[in-house]
Amino acid sequence: MKSKRGLAILGSTGSIGTQALEVLETYPDYFNLEVLTANGNAGLLIEQAKKFKPNCVVIVDEKGYQPVKEALWNEDIKVYCGADALSQVVESSEVDIVLTALVGYAGLKPTISAIKAKKTIALANKETLVVAGELITRLALENEVAVYPVDSEHSAIFQCLTGESGNPIEKIYLTASGGPFRGWTMDQLQNVTPAQALKHPNWSMGAKITIDSATLMNKGLEVIEAKWLFDLTAGQIDVIVHPQSIVHSLVQFRDGSMKAQMGLPDMKLPIQYALTYPERFPTDFPRFNFMDYPSLTFEKPDRETFINLNSAYEAMEKKGTAACALNAANEVTVQAFLEEKIGFTDIAEINRRVMHDTQFVASPVYEDFVAVDSEARRLARELLLQGTIR
Ligand code: NAD
Ligand code: MG
Repeated sequence: MKSKRGLAILGSTGSIGTQALEVLETYPDYFNLEVLTANGNAGLLIEQAKKFKPNCVVIVDEKGYQPVKEALWNEDIKVYCGADALSQVVESSEVDIVLTALVGYAGLKPTISAIKAKKTIALANKETLVVAGELITRLALENEVAVYPVDSEHSAIFQCLTGESGNPIEKIYLTASGGPFRGWTMDQLQNVTPAQALKHPNWSMGAKITIDSATLMNKGLEVIEAKWLFDLTAGQIDVIVHPQSIVHSLVQFRDGSMKAQMGLPDMKLPIQYALTYPERFPTDFPRFNFMDYPSLTFEKPDRETFINLNSAYEAMEKKGTAACALNAANEVTVQAFLEEKIGFTDIAEINRRVMHDTQFVASPVYEDFVAVDSEARRLARELLLQGTIR
């Protein structure tokens, strides 16, 4: 085995973060855990810090600082607070890999910082590539930094591409479960509650991505994520609904051959692959049994009802800051839906309007993303207040 890899987990208290820690527990000789971070969940961060003994922890929300500091006073663990600390801790010379397991736009700044510090990125935070894919891929290239996907569909594509260097991709198919409302009509969707939308058929994930899966925004974000990870055009990326979530995605090559990556849905596998690449470590995860799935089915996504998918394609083709505005609107509308301030179908409608109405910068620099993100959030909040409230 190689010498230990220093790991920073941004968002260690979330769904991806906690599963990453399970992977680490299985391979204690392979990783040195350097950094753990959380937004507000001080209790779990303390528990994780005591168990895994990282070099430092960051609690973003100031309210958590004193409790974390007091709980860890006896440990040899540095405690920092605030969003800026995320960008600083990833630069530590002890860190080799940064797992971006935090949710939303908040991932952008620390990811840029980590790339500039030449850290390998295991990217779960798809919003970073959605908002600023061009900037991130350029920085990664300039700094000779690898960005390994954690998202299961992108990990599938990445695995299918292993051994295919020099063979161009003709197209890819990203599979989608279709979420809990697959086959529902616009009328049926009007009165959907957060509790219904939070019940994903195949995956257990954080609240934001679960709602994104129900609105198909998650697939829209993934289409943009795939564009940047694999250098594809919109015409090369297709989405196919596959309710069983066994085929995690497919690549089609120019001779017409298609490769798929399959397995039971379990995020620990793509998390582990991103952290141990190019090696595959043994696992005791349950294995797929064909007899449990006598038929795997595929169907077209309903883009008329779930318009978020079209909005994402539109943003991707428009380039510039269009996807940044769409993402910002979506973060606001998903939160508002969870707080029962707007209805389920308002999410996609407001997202689309904000994407169209926010200023557009064709060749953005970092500061333009900051400005567009903030303007789009403001516009989205205005629309929430203008009569769409239930
Ligand atoms: P989650 O809500 O379960 O966890 C989010 C983590 O980020 C928590 O540790 C939280 O404390 C932290 N966080 C939240 N807001 C923050 C902020 N403003 N600043 C700093 N930290 C903050 O989310 P998740 O489901 O684990 O998803 C994390 C990322 O991984 C998302 O980008 C999501 O799209 C992506 N992803 C998740 C899954 C999954 O199975 N959960 C699958 C594929 C991709
Ligand atoms: Mg995914």
